[in-house]
Amino acid sequence: MPAVNLYSDTQTRPTPEMRAAIAAAEVGDEQLRQDPTTVALEERVADLLGHEAALFLPSGTMCNEIAIRIHIRPGGERMFLGRATHPLIAEAGGPAQLSGAVITEVDGEAGMFEPATLDAAIGGSGPGGRYAPRPRLVCVEQTTNMGGGRVWPLDRVRGVLDVARSHGLDTHLDGARLMNAVVASGVDAASWAGGFDSAWLDFTKGLGAPVGACLAGSAAFIEEAWRWKQMMGGAMRQSGIVAAAGLYALDHHVERLADDHARARRLAEGLAELPGVALDPATVESNIVIFDVPDAPAFCAALAEQDVAMSHFGPTRVRAVTHLDVDDDGIDRALAAATRALGAATV
Ligand SMILES: *Cc1c(COP(=O)(O)O)cnc(C)c1O
Repeated sequence: MPAVNLYSDTQTRPTPEMRAAIAAAEVGDEQLRQDPTTVALEERVADLLGHEAALFLPSGTMCNEIAIRIHIRPGGERMFLGRATHPLIAEAGGPAQLSGAVITEVDGEAGMFEPATLDAAIGGSGPGGRYAPRPRLVCVEQTTNMGGGRVWPLDRVRGVLDVARSHGLDTHLDGARLMNAVVASGVDAASWAGGFDSAWLDFTKGLGAPVGACLAGSAAFIEEAWRWKQMMGGAMRQSGIVAAAGLYALDHHVERLADDHARARRLAEGLAELPGVALDPATVESNIVIFDVPDAPAFCAALAEQDVAMSHFGPTRVRAVTHLDVDDDGIDRALAAATRALGAATV
């Protein structure tokens, strides 16, 4: 592990206290609904997200793919989602392979499209009728990952839901970092997620658990999701071992996300002052900092030599993510390393 690991909030390791909660977990056979810790986590998340029921799954990717598969019937149905959202760039083409989905990317600043843009995309994309793929599903990613951890404004989410409903479409919330949005906005999780037909959150991002995510929806939706979980091999046995970490995270790792956000902002403010960095710190709302430098691979390599990790996407774009294994000192070290890296690169 690098001394300062800003590569991703997925790389957190369970704290000693979380490991103690894992060790103490009561367990049973999850597939028979006999694992009390998993059931407790599912009930907690259903409640938290304002839905009837929830289902513990091995990953957020499986939450997205199962939900999309339930909303979309293979054979020419269409889903609308922001550019560079996770199902498009990081799920190995799952929506096409598993659901036969026709995908329409909707443009919007930092991954957050406007209701009117969605309306135009749904209504104005061709001759319609039997010629057109059938619109079926709208997805929202909160916070936006490749958009830079941005928090969709609540009224825009409501506007998007209104447009989707006016066209009779289903709605799905990718809430991998929903709790970051909750802490950044002060708006509770149910207000963000309750209006969607399905919604989920990940325990392995800023919440710091080792495994798992939870998908929520109506009781009928979750019953159907169980079938897909079984088929895809996501049904587990003594999953309370990992569900316990999720419960621990909901109790102890939510409020502290504010520290990650403050550190991300401080990192952004420091980076923005360096020569060659293109970044507006005011756009940093949660724990993700995305910026451009003249040569991103060389920049990240120079950081790595100084034991600081960030990731690069393409020739100029860099992403840094704060989380519970990065403290104030880590931000100072990252800024010092970035200063040296850019000094060397601009000679
Ligand atoms: C990480 C992530 C996922 C996938 O979650 P995994 O638990 O890694 O499978 C989906 N959507 C977004 C926005 C993510 O950041």
